[in-house]
Amino acid sequence: MAKKEFQAESKKLLDMMINSIYTQREVFLRELISNASDAIDKIYYRALTDDNLSFNKENYYIKVVPNKDERTLKIIDTGIGMTKEDLESNLGVIAKSGSHTFKSENEVKDGHDIIGQFGVGFYAAFMVSDVVTVVSKSIDSDEAYKWESTGSDGYTIESAEKNEVGTEITLKIKESTEDDNYDEFLEEYRLKQIIKKYSDFIRYPIKMDVTES
Ligand code: ADP
Ligand code: MG
Repeated sequence: MAKKEFQAESKKLLDMMINSIYTQREVFLRELISNASDAIDKIYYRALTDDNLSFNKENYYIKVVPNKDERTLKIIDTGIGMTKEDLESNLGVIAKSGSHTFKSENEVKDGHDIIGQFGVGFYAAFMVSDVVTVVSKSIDSDEAYKWESTGSDGYTIESAEKNEVGTEITLKIKESTEDDNYDEFLEEYRLKQIIKKYSDFIRYPIKMDVTES
């Protein structure tokens, strides 16, 4: 399958993400959870005006699933999902809001804490991942699609299987090296800490199965 290139601006931001300093990396989870929450908001608002759609709060949640053996971290939501076109236009380029905040603040602040402070969006996933896979089924489509990227060399989109509307993001967490430890992002206690720190205000439940005491 042919790989598509990211736009130039996206490439630049991607490089910054990948080379960001250690202490800023944890914000990837804030970004993915806030996107998941936005996606549930979209269903909520649609239900207000669409009589065929009812919003039962218990059906809407965000789930975080670490797997040490596979070295993956999943962020799952029951939000509005993305069509093939959405995947292309939303994840193939840096989204407007995130990147604009980033750019304008970048001009007035000096470098180092930018990524930690401001919304940087979906691409933050590449701070901790070798491969990012997004499987999504839109409320407006019967088909599900899989978007996948290893970062700066572009992305692929293909058909996928998914029964429920929503999005499942799988991060293949980077291997740790002598200088860089990524293992913490597979640890339940650490993930809980990060969620508490950045996502305490999220209006939907953030679930994580507890397997460690
Ligand atoms: P922003 O959230 O500032 O728009 P992001 O880079 O975080 O920028 O996300 C880009 C876009 O991708 C979002 O605006 C949204 O349309 C789409 N998106 C990302 N994650 C999800 C998700 N979990 N469910 C549905 N759409 C999503
Ligand atoms: Mg976002």
